Amino acid sequence: MKCEEIREIMPDLASGHTEITPEIGGHLAACPACAGKMEEFRQTMALLDEWKAPEPSPYFDVRLQARLREEMAKPQSSWVAWFRRPVLAAALTVMLGVGVGLFVTRGRVDPQPPVAEVGTAVSDLQTLEKNHEMYSDFELLDDLDLQQDVAANP
Ligand SMILES: [Zn+2]
Repeated sequence: MKCEEIREIMPDLASGHTEITPEIGGHLAACPACAGKMEEFRQTMALLDEWKAPEPSPYFDVRLQARLREEMAKPQSSWVAWFRRPVLAAALTVMLGVGVGLFVTRGRVDPQPPVAEVGTAVSDLQTLEKNHEMYSDFELLDDLDLQQDVAANP
């Protein structure tokens, strides 16, 4: 039996999952290196058997329950709390989608820009745009007059 074979099964041997055959026992008796490793494994296993998870403080549960009640009693007033509710967030998303959809559809069906209130920046811009179109027409008329003059006086 080789050292490598013994080392591979050593954790099982130390924990008792694998029985120590006379062949293995013979090697351990003859090989101090393997015997030393085996002893280390046995000590580790013994420590693991003794080890227990530490008990939580008896006040831990009490404090946790109190904290939970405190959080539950808090009024969910902040707007962030609303977004934490998945159903409401989903409903808002759908409403937003419908709103955008309506806007896009209306824009396609009705290409007329909405009439802005008088006195606002938007209405001023719209007036300027209309005037510009009007002035463009005047320039076209001027060109027409000039051409007629040229035609009358060659
Ligand atoms: Zn060995």
